[in-house]
Amino acid sequence: MGEFDLIAKYFKRPARDAVLGVGDDCALLLPAPGTHLAVSSDMLVEGRHFLSTVSPERLGHKALAVNLSDLAACGATPRAFTLALALPRVDEAWLAGFAQGLFALADAHGCELVGGDTTQGPLNICITVLGEVPVVDGRSQALLRSGAQVGDDIYVSGTLGDARLALEVFRGNVQVPAAVFEHARRRMEQPSPRVALGVGLRGLASSAIDVSDGFLGDLRHVLQASGVGAQIDIDIAINLLAAPALSTGSNADLMLQISSAQALEWVFAGGDDYELVFTAAPANAHRVAQAARDAKTRITRVGRIEAEPGLRLEGSQGLVQAEKFGSFDHFAPSVK
Ligand code: ADP
Ligand code: MG
Repeated sequence: MGEFDLIAKYFKRPARDAVLGVGDDCALLLPAPGTHLAVSSDMLVEGRHFLSTVSPERLGHKALAVNLSDLAACGATPRAFTLALALPRVDEAWLAGFAQGLFALADAHGCELVGGDTTQGPLNICITVLGEVPVVDGRSQALLRSGAQVGDDIYVSGTLGDARLALEVFRGNVQVPAAVFEHARRRMEQPSPRVALGVGLRGLASSAIDVSDGFLGDLRHVLQASGVGAQIDIDIAINLLAAPALSTGSNADLMLQISSAQALEWVFAGGDDYELVFTAAPANAHRVAQAARDAKTRITRVGRIEAEPGLRLEGSQGLVQAEKFGSFDHFAPSVK
């Protein structure tokens, strides 16, 4: 099967919302009046962003999910995406699975594949998403990293550290009950982008970011962009680890295997979570809680924005140094 047959069979579908979709030199989209286009790209490289053991369905899902997560962080409504794909060979079973996982998530979010590029090479997937953010009175409603205000509450959606837990099990460093592993593995391979929450937080949250490189590392980007500091409650944060799986009764089993220091490391710096971290004024707390309920997404208040720069981690056991929880950096000297 050649390049063009491959595109036609697996990635070309009739244009829906787009004026012109896959098949010409460019796609054509009509932006909705009174909106800004939000644009973001994320690349997935085998061995770096995913393990070769992942199923093609889940990989198709994840490739789009990590991009939708960026739109969610900006409060943008997904519209369309492009797919640049390097494939070592034409493997039709793989392509069918990949397309199925990709389109299932795309359809769930009304996000249309409008173009891309296909080439032979080491497996590499790069998606660019396009979303819309309303402009009200000349001002974009996009959630940015720079808006956090002193006194704001800091919230996290969902749970943190699950993907890292799965990775540690894959690496043979910890053992957990099968149900906990399955839950964590699904969180790693099929993250849920918090799109509905991000959209619901427009006009409510003062800042937002999605957690891809680790909670504290990503929060630091918000603090830096906003020129503020933060206090985080350790006792609350540690409960964000794999919470749904643990509430089914396997908590004790899991905690036998994991020290609280390890749990903290995974929550604070695990990465690959694709949750939202956002800030909002205490006066908006009720509306924020309602937005989370409407989005059917759990949120937890984990701290507060303070004027003093830096991060302070406080709990019943005292203070913990924030400096040791770094952010994932592809070009950090320690990363091979
Ligand atoms: P060009 O040579 O003009 O760059 P291509 O031959 O690469 O165009 O692609 C032909 C058409 O197929 C274009 O509309 C392009 O956007 C689309 N396309 C290529 N690869 C993909 C893909 N992986 N997913 C979706 N559309 C694709
Ligand atoms: Mg091309």
